[in-house]
Amino acid sequence: MILELAEEFNQRFENKKNLPLITSCCPSWVKFCEQFYPDLIPHLSGCKSHQQIAGAIIKKQLSEFEQIPVEKIVSVSVMPCTSRKYESGRTDYFTQNGADVNFVLTTRELIQLIRMNGLDLNSVEPENADQPLSSGSTLSGLQGLTGSTLDSILKTIYYQHTGRTFENKSMFEFDSLSEGYKTGVIIIGNAKLNVAVINGLKNSVQLTDAIRNKKRIPDIVEIMACFGGCICGGGQPFSMKEKDYKKLLLSATASKNPELIHAPFQNKAIHDITDKIIGKPMSEMNLTLFHKQIS
Ligand code: SF4
Repeated sequence: MILELAEEFNQRFENKKNLPLITSCCPSWVKFCEQFYPDLIPHLSGCKSHQQIAGAIIKKQLSEFEQIPVEKIVSVSVMPCTSRKYESGRTDYFTQNGADVNFVLTTRELIQLIRMNGLDLNSVEPENADQPLSSGSTLSGLQGLTGSTLDSILKTIYYQHTGRTFENKSMFEFDSLSEGYKTGVIIIGNAKLNVAVINGLKNSVQLTDAIRNKKRIPDIVEIMACFGGCICGGGQPFSMKEKDYKKLLLSATASKNPELIHAPFQNKAIHDITDKIIGKPMSEMNLTLFHKQIS
């Protein structure tokens, strides 16, 4: 998703078209925009979310390379978000393989199922997920926090323009558990990018009104409906309190292990998928698989 978003932004920025690019990985924000700010729809990224993209890759890989009939493939995702159920059923996200994701369980529902069936996870031997989707990067692991999608896009663009990586800190620091809104300027090469992060739907109105009235035209904006990001999503256990979110946040940050792959553009699995299963970002194949279909 990040490589696709970075390329989409590069193209819009170069052509000065439909700026700001506003992220579309949060289905609640997308629905809010479609309902209350339909004039801003051209600014939304056309790129589907990581849930939908993972589902599209799974169906393509299994049907074309493992020769499993597509009607026999059932894709199930587990998400901290109730809106993902709605997102998976949007027909404008369907491809020729139908829905990318057939069923969505929230994390709360998964926990209930585990308890109902008396499963003892401590007695389960851990094993890796199947290739090619088994190796993620630490930046991908942080996507549950507001601000991390924008940071990942900026780091990807930085790498593309300078050939260098920006690993030890964020390019755009954002505290997802206390800040509601932040704007800034990031310089990459000769480009000066005006960026913004909105944390929680109620904090979106000021900037979206300013964009609508052409009072502010940033270049790229990330908006997440839940304050904190998906880690605080509506599908998470009811019993979670702020201290639990902080703990999760710390464990996500602690996952910045230098031995792990840092960014999606350094992830060999992503390059293998690009070479063998899909195409380059914004290629014809990816536009068909990973982008909302315009009717
Ligand atoms: S921010 Fe909330 S509504 Fe949006 S995708 Fe994440 S959990 Fe879902």
